[in-house]
This record gives sequence, C-alpha cells and structure tokens, in this order.
Amino acid sequence: MIDNVTGLTCVICGTTYSAEEAGYVCLNHGNDGILDVQYDYDLVGSRISKASLNEDRDPTMWRYRSLLPIASDATVPPLTVGGTPTYDARRLAEALGISRVFVKDEGRQPTASLKDRASAMAIVKAREQGAEVVTTASTGNAAAALSGLSASVGQKNVIFVPETAPQAKIAQLLAYGSTVALVKGTYGDAFDLCMEAAAAFGWYNRNTGFNPYMTEGKKTAGLEILEQLDWDPPDAIFVSVGDGSIIGGVHKAMKDAQALGWIDHTPRIFGIQSAGSDYLVQAYESGEDVLTKPPISADTVADSISADLPRDRIKAMNAVVETDGAYLRVSDIDILAAVPTLARGSGVFAEPAGAAAYAGLVVAVNHGLIKAADRVVVLSTGSGLKDVASAMKAVAAAGTKPMVVEPTLDALKAAMKTNLTV
Ligand SMILES: *Cc1c(COP(=O)(O)O)cnc(C)c1O
Ligand SMILES: [Zn+2]
Repeated sequence: MIDNVTGLTCVICGTTYSAEEAGYVCLNHGNDGILDVQYDYDLVGSRISKASLNEDRDPTMWRYRSLLPIASDATVPPLTVGGTPTYDARRLAEALGISRVFVKDEGRQPTASLKDRASAMAIVKAREQGAEVVTTASTGNAAAALSGLSASVGQKNVIFVPETAPQAKIAQLLAYGSTVALVKGTYGDAFDLCMEAAAAFGWYNRNTGFNPYMTEGKKTAGLEILEQLDWDPPDAIFVSVGDGSIIGGVHKAMKDAQALGWIDHTPRIFGIQSAGSDYLVQAYESGEDVLTKPPISADTVADSISADLPRDRIKAMNAVVETDGAYLRVSDIDILAAVPTLARGSGVFAEPAGAAAYAGLVVAVNHGLIKAADRVVVLSTGSGLKDVASAMKAVAAAGTKPMVVEPTLDALKAAMKTNLTV
C-alpha cells in the first residue's frame, strides 16, 4: 500500500487528485496540466531521517524509498540505480576562482545517464499497474534507460527516438532488445507519436513531462547531493535543461528536504540551455508565460537538451524563479569546449548535455552570479561515451591530437619532441 502520498496536484490550477483517481495529467488542463506528487511529511519523517540514512547500507536511489511514491514493500528493479559519486574538483574551483566545485557523475548509472532514476521508477509503477508494455519517446537517454531497466526485469517495451539520435544510444536500445521506432522527425515528432500509440494501445506511458512520477525518481539525484555534502547545502546547483524534468526533480528534492527539516535553506538552482535550444532562457528573460509561449525550433550539438517545447516547463521555471537562480544560455562551441575542460579538471567525461552544465557555471562566474566564497555543484547528467562523435569534435576543437607513430622507440622520441602535451 502507498500510504505516504496525500495526492497529486495540478501545477496550473492546483486541483488535487488522490493517488488512486489521478491519471497522468490534470483533467482540466490536458497534457499541460502536469501533476506534482504531495507527501504526508509527518509520516515520511517518522520513517526516514538523517540518522536512519546514516545507518542505511543501501547505496541506491531506493534508500529514499520512504520519500518516494511507492509501497514500502514494492519490488524494485535489480540494476543498481543511484549512489553516483559527487567529486570535489579542486582544480576546477581554482581555475574559476571560487571556493568549491563539486561534480556529480551521473554517467556512472547502469545505462550511463541520470534517466535511469526515472526509468527505474517507471518500471515500479508499470508493474504496480500490471502493464504489459511500457513506452517512451526520448532524445535517446530516457529511451536507453527504460530499455535497460526493462531488460533487467523482462518487461516488454516500445521505444520512440528521432532517427538522428547518437549511435551509441540506438545501440543500447537494440542490445537490450526493445522494440525500437526510429522516427523520421524531431524529438517532438517522436513524442507525439508515442503519446498517440500509448493511448491507442493502452501502454504504460513513461514520457517526460507527462508521467508525474518521473520527477520523483529524478529528485533522488538532488537528495544524494545534499546527503553527500553532509546536509550542508551548496550555494548553487547547475543543471542542463531540455524538457525541464531533471531541474524540476532537483528542486523537488530541495523542497522535500526543507519540509523534513533536513536543510534550512535551498541552494540557488541554475538552468542551462544551449543557445540553439533556449526556450526557457527566452521565457526567463522576457517574462513570457510558458503556458502560452509557442515552441521554438531547436538545434544543438547537445542532443539530450534539444527540445522545441520543454514538456515540464512549469516545474522547470519554478525551480529557477523560486530559488533565485537564473536561466543561462551557452553556445555549442562552449558546450563542446566544456567536455575536455570537465574531463581534464575532474576526471568526469560527460556527453555534451552533461558538460553544458559546467559551461553554464563558467558563464555564471563571468557574469558575477557566483561569488568567490560559493560552493557549487555541477550535475553531469550523462557519460561522454554516449556520443563519441561529439567528443571527437570537442577534442579536435581543443587542438588535441594523438601522436601517430611507427612502433619503435626512436619514432616515439622524434614524435615526442614536437608534442607539447608531455
Ligand atoms: C535528459 C537529459 C538532460 C535534460 O533533462 P530534462 O529533464 O529533459 O531537462 C540533460 N542531460 C542529459 C545527459 C540527459 O539525458
Ligand atoms: Zn489543472
């Protein structure tokens, strides 16, 4: 039995539905009426505390299960999701002239992106309902995550991705045995087709910015950040933003932790978008209402944050506005440059969408939005191995070339004379 959820509330009109009666979205607002899960924090607080977490040997996202919308005895998928490291990257902090830069490496998840947190939740909810098939559309990582988590429990699934998705992500889907539709169109096209198919065939729908439980899975990244920093909240958290579900999840974690008295203030949350996919930055700057602002035409090297119309834009905007953060844009050139900078400065090799958060930190420091005494967290959302073609572009742009040598010591010595990196 799920007894810790008091209801699901529409982000637009505030109508609250009980967990049993709630569909995916608000009845009054269709697909824009995204629901937010509400908890009985007194009950949650009686089951989980900083002290109980200290004793808990479970390193996965399920250590926060008392604060998740699942039954306390729910069976969770066997893959190890969550418990990713948060590194203290001293050289990056020094280079930026700020107190601390922590890098949380979500590339360490089983399918190599933060999306595993949401897809693991989707599997639990789909099984709770006895769904035969689960489905999602995705720029690639949510798809790979649902695919891998499904494989871990033998769950049938159908995946929709744009045919332009990076090869590594498509390879994951095929290896895990998903039914894969490569859609001739954008992520938006794949999303619309998946939504139609889910409704037509009665599949369990994991789509981002539609299924209200995905935010709850993603928030475990934010809870881990707080716990890994010994509940001393950082001054700022940098998150790259496509649909806006991850940033909404990070914000939810902060609100939960505050409601439970685990932290006394909330970090400022900074949303980072590519200049080629900057819907939320535009709205933040102009004050336009994200409910009525029309889609843009997104185009960026950071495929995971390419979104014409961020599906979870209301939660995404609230995350920044309510925490006194900002939305910032970074160019594709800066995103690619951030890949080797982050890798060399911290050892974390990120895909472009992950490195974008670091590129955003650089912009924030340059604009005086981050002070010298600040401790900041960069959420690196996905592994660099997800998109090797972009990584090769990034290192070429950084002027990094390997030595190509005959297999003799003399040839190596000659090559090393002209190679400046040794
Ligand atoms: C999905 C994703 C994002 C963006 O998350 P949203 O919830 O769509 O804003 C950022 N980075 C990576 C690697 C992702 O897979
Ligand atoms: Zn509503």
